[in-house]
Amino acid sequence: MSPNAFPRPVAYLQCIETTCRATYDAGERIYTCERCGGLLDVCYEWRRAELDNVFATFDARRASYHPHDVSGVWRFRELLPFATSPCQIVTLGEGNTPLWDAPRSARYTGLKQLTVKHQGMNPTGSFKDNGMTTGVAQARRVGAQAVACASTGNTSASLAAYAARAGLHGLVFIPGGRIAYGKLAQSLDYGAVTLQIDGNFDDAMRLVREMARTTPLYLLNSVNPFRLEGQKTIAFELLQQRRWRVPDRVVVPGGNLGNVSALGKGFKELYDLGLITRMPRLTVVQAEGAAPLAQWYAAGRQGNGRPVTEPKTLATAIQIGNPVSWWKAVRALDWTHGTCTIVSDQEIADAKAVIGRDGIGCEPASAATVAGLRRLVAEGCVHPEEDVVAILTGNALKDPDFTVQYHTGQLFTDAEREMHLTRAEGLITSAFANAPRRVPPDADVLRRVILDLIAEPPPLTAS
Ligand SMILES: [Zn+2]
Repeated sequence: MSPNAFPRPVAYLQCIETTCRATYDAGERIYTCERCGGLLDVCYEWRRAELDNVFATFDARRASYHPHDVSGVWRFRELLPFATSPCQIVTLGEGNTPLWDAPRSARYTGLKQLTVKHQGMNPTGSFKDNGMTTGVAQARRVGAQAVACASTGNTSASLAAYAARAGLHGLVFIPGGRIAYGKLAQSLDYGAVTLQIDGNFDDAMRLVREMARTTPLYLLNSVNPFRLEGQKTIAFELLQQRRWRVPDRVVVPGGNLGNVSALGKGFKELYDLGLITRMPRLTVVQAEGAAPLAQWYAAGRQGNGRPVTEPKTLATAIQIGNPVSWWKAVRALDWTHGTCTIVSDQEIADAKAVIGRDGIGCEPASAATVAGLRRLVAEGCVHPEEDVVAILTGNALKDPDFTVQYHTGQLFTDAEREMHLTRAEGLITSAFANAPRRVPPDADVLRRVILDLIAEPPPLTAS
């Protein structure tokens, strides 16, 4: 197959419920199983012989200037062969995110070394772009004129950008409470109609799903299995950057659980195709006020798990009480002998500052990965010598208020905000604060300050 040839589709949809397994045509405009309501997978009738040298094909494409090869999603198109025509592809050159060594974060976690894959370096600043390019391709395939999602911010920013590029109406449903301004600003700028629902994320989600049933809106939340097809390429790209060497562990923050679900599917497909010989252990880290999956695991996986009715965390991207991709996430953790854990907002805030000191930076939810690793190493669940990749999901500029409030000692928990706690109880302790210093407009004073400062060794992360 020549490098720019477009693979022929051999895709269908299948219910993930083992008691159902109903299948549907990949061109059907459905989001969940019509028989049982279960989540759907995009499945493929692989032609294994055509995939023999597929890693070499992917590597060769890194020298190409064709937009479909430049994309860090469509570069791997043999492994997501559902689009029926190249003209369905809308790309902003998504993916292509860096894999960085993070030595200070490693020391903070207790690991010998740690690499981070920064999905926040995507075109709209979050991992959502990986899935939005494939979701919009499917929207075009089914002839949609308008696309919609419910979002705590990053999905709306991404949907707004890709809808604009595709010439589609973009509608975003956002919760009424705290929303990171960086994200809201993006949706507005990219021209999406923004509907602020007087409720939480789960209310917005329920309503957008109802609208997708009763109006021509095409739903692009991660319940749409075509979103996860793009997101699974994060697994492929991180392997490619490691010369196809599989890490011991991949750590992700857990909100709606689409990320862990997609990574699990990506690694499992490579494994089942015999393209890799083992899978990394997937690890999900949830914030303590929004940790339904981790609580369910901690309680021995009894029953179907309980949603958190009023999820609370300052890491707004993972402030989700009833994760859509629950059973796909459980499946991914089972496939990879994975694990999940819980961290506090205090731990997230400190870990975020440490990642910043590596010169990397991220939005609060991303820092749950480093906070979770610190906890798992301390508990003996992760060995210090493990080869670990942490997925940072969003850009540092997404939520500047959080960052400035932390560094100036003014970051409060949501509970305090609602006056249930006193100021002192609700205050996050800023162990790694780096507040601006007030100085008079006087060159002599300034000179003394500077000379005193540089006489000290450069700031090191406290351990
Ligand atoms: Zn079903």
